[in-house]
Amino acid sequence: MIHVSLPDGSVLEISAGTSILEVTATIGPRLAAAATCAVVDGELRDLRETLHEDCALTVVTTDHAHALTTLRHTTTHIMAQAVKRLFPTAKLGIGPAIEDGFYYDFDLEESFSDEDLERIFAEMEKIIAEDLPIVRVEMPIDAARALLDEQNETYKLELLDDLAAEGNETVTFFEQGEFTDLCRGPHLQSTGRVSAEAVKLLSIAGAYWRGDESRPMLQRIYGTAWEKRKDLESYLWRLEEAAKRDHRRIGKDLDLFSIQEAGGAGLVCWHPKGARLKRTIEEFWYAQHDLGGYEIVSTPHIGKGELWGISGHLDFYRENMYSPMDIDGVDYYVKPMNCPYQILIYNSRVHSYRELPLRWAELGTVYRYERSGVLHGLLRVRGFTIDDAHIICRPDQIHEELRRVYAFSMDMLMAFGFEEFAIYLATRPHEGKAVGEEERWEQATEALREALEARGLPYEVDEGGGAFYGPKIDIKVKDSLGRAWQCSTIQFDFNLPERFDMTYAGDDGAEHRPYVVHRALLGSLERFIGCLIEHYAGAFPLWLAPVQAILIPIADRHADYAGTVAERMKAAGIRVVVDASSERMNAKIRNAQLQKIPYMLVVGDREQEADAIAVRLRSEEDLGAKSVDEVIATLRRLIEEKALTLT
Ligand SMILES: [Zn+2]
Ligand SMILES: [Zn+2]
Repeated sequence: MIHVSLPDGSVLEISAGTSILEVTATIGPRLAAAATCAVVDGELRDLRETLHEDCALTVVTTDHAHALTTLRHTTTHIMAQAVKRLFPTAKLGIGPAIEDGFYYDFDLEESFSDEDLERIFAEMEKIIAEDLPIVRVEMPIDAARALLDEQNETYKLELLDDLAAEGNETVTFFEQGEFTDLCRGPHLQSTGRVSAEAVKLLSIAGAYWRGDESRPMLQRIYGTAWEKRKDLESYLWRLEEAAKRDHRRIGKDLDLFSIQEAGGAGLVCWHPKGARLKRTIEEFWYAQHDLGGYEIVSTPHIGKGELWGISGHLDFYRENMYSPMDIDGVDYYVKPMNCPYQILIYNSRVHSYRELPLRWAELGTVYRYERSGVLHGLLRVRGFTIDDAHIICRPDQIHEELRRVYAFSMDMLMAFGFEEFAIYLATRPHEGKAVGEEERWEQATEALREALEARGLPYEVDEGGGAFYGPKIDIKVKDSLGRAWQCSTIQFDFNLPERFDMTYAGDDGAEHRPYVVHRALLGSLERFIGCLIEHYAGAFPLWLAPVQAILIPIADRHADYAGTVAERMKAAGIRVVVDASSERMNAKIRNAQLQKIPYMLVVGDREQEADAIAVRLRSEEDLGAKSVDEVIATLRRLIEEKALTLT
């Protein structure tokens, strides 16, 4: 007999080998009917799996992220089944559930058309109506190989080889009707559990097998699936809204940045307005760090192989690093991270306990290899600037330091207008791969927890989700469409201090190991700006807007006056331009609106006589004529306050 503890604290005694679904049925038939999947000791599991040792079990019904994952995974199998029915020669690639939906990759001679999508969907409706039971089959590797061989699923055979190489002796298949797929699950109990009216096939895209350009290009069908039709509808609305906010499109329309073939994929060129936005963020960042007790450091872009050997990057991170360059017969690497250099600064001399804590920050540009298939505008790039900081402190200082760094991070994110967050505390991994003493892990996790509690914002514990070298806090900001963007990470490190033998002289005269906390606040500036563009749809708050105001002379004779006003505004630190084009006033106003310039300041005869300007907002609101001094004062105040509104 084994013991299964349930979320309500009760414990069930069951015989080993009972399936999760059977256990669920003993709890209650209603629960079993509504169950989609389960979490066993923190891991997502299929209901058909059996339990063999004492564990903690949570049964997942609807209204849970895991429930949607399971639903979507089942839906993608239904789609693959439909494709196989209509296109029997199609070979299967992979078909996972992803955020908000699912996809499946197919290798097929002919190209899928939009009409094909409609046919595939119609076939999916049939499969759902057939309500085929979904069966989990466990199979030895050899039998699996024979099956996939017979089906001529060459891509699945490759995946199977990987599973064998990882040491798996058996693998699982999921069957529904005539369709079977090598898959870990979890899945719903039958195809009828999917609601066809809450499913939509979205698009077809090319995708290299395993993201590798040297491998075949497969056809990927994207779709989305929800529990209810109204969830699907609101998702489709959000998609439409997101397309309008796509930072790649807005970046081009507002002339902020470009990523050009000739310059290299994933490498960002900031145009004057984009660079102005970036610089505004950097200036704010430096000012806050000065106030927050940080010192700014600056480190090289390339480093000797020896350094990356000590740090362990050459062993564990090499696939993300670019090939070395030879300098005087020695290998040098472009840096993928800033940390080792900051540690070299620390180790350049002996430190006393009295000097700690040290808080060192750097806008450090790093280069990491990303497959070309995953590059995406500013969000996935190959070169980016991390707002990196390291806090080096004594054990007795971690509580205070963590409270500070967490509050500092939240205040800064809020200054950019974000109000909602998803915050996670990731704790020690279960597998026992973690480095560092148990006691340090406990103290560090406690300090993180205390910092979170002190601020009082809700957070989730990601049990066992920490890196092998330390626990961490992850902060995601939620944008205006409710999408979560990973920004800040506050990460303890028990690894690098050991590798670099970092020490300080304690008051006992002995050498001690300091605590090191890595902290990236905005994350990468590139990604963060991509997020800002989409959050604001390019209509930035005044303090961030690359051009804050545009002066629009009604006729040529007002150009001189517009120029004088512009000079006065510039002298007051306002980013202003004059539209000296020969277009008509209405066209000028429309252009300024398209450029999302917050203030349009129109000058004609009347304004010129009265030392005034007629103020219009990009929202088309007309504020009427105001004195130049008054406008300057208002803009100065709004910039100072980092106001989110324009009045
Ligand atoms: Zn699957
Ligand atoms: Zn670091």
